[in-house]
Amino acid sequence: MARIGALVKAGVVNTEGYYTLGGRLALDFANSRERIGRELDGLASFEDLLTFLKSHKLLHEDEASELHMFLFQNPTRCQQVVETILNLRAGFCQVLTDLAAGWPVNPDFLEEINSRLEGFKSYLRLEPTDSGGMELKTIIDEDGPEKLVFPILRDIADFLGSDHVEKTKTCASDDCNLYFINLSRNGRRRWCSMATCGNRAKVNAYLKRQDA
Ligand SMILES: [Zn+2]
Repeated sequence: MARIGALVKAGVVNTEGYYTLGGRLALDFANSRERIGRELDGLASFEDLLTFLKSHKLLHEDEASELHMFLFQNPTRCQQVVETILNLRAGFCQVLTDLAAGWPVNPDFLEEINSRLEGFKSYLRLEPTDSGGMELKTIIDEDGPEKLVFPILRDIADFLGSDHVEKTKTCASDDCNLYFINLSRNGRRRWCSMATCGNRAKVNAYLKRQDA
């Protein structure tokens, strides 16, 4: 637990062990294949998915407990949502790998995103915010567990339409497969984080110099 504390402090992961260094939800979602402190895939179960969304502040505690009840009533439907999420993530990771290597987005993936978006009915609603202002929110007309896919899908779509596309990178470390958006001012960020891979690279370079 001491180790995760240091990583949380460095902004690498959140308290649930999910990576937060991607630069936006879509990339943090892609990086959810691993979860610090767990051996299984970060989204191996429906409960993991609820934890992931809660830890990214996309799901309120009361909504999460409602969905938890739903899991007992209809585990098959919840498992289908997990499979949808895992398929979406696999396709998106391939797109990110392509982008980082300088390839364009596969048009098949765009079609997949569009057909998934088409499956959601939504409406706009003006809601008060915590800071006393107002916010125009997109509300999904769906109470079932399928609604959990929407915020992720939405941010993937927003990402694909943004200038983050050409700033997509994979970590320069050979044994790390994390993605991030290179928002550094000089555009030279190479590592997922300086607290982990960047530091390891510095230590390795130092040891190499000692050997020479
Ligand atoms: Zn890395």
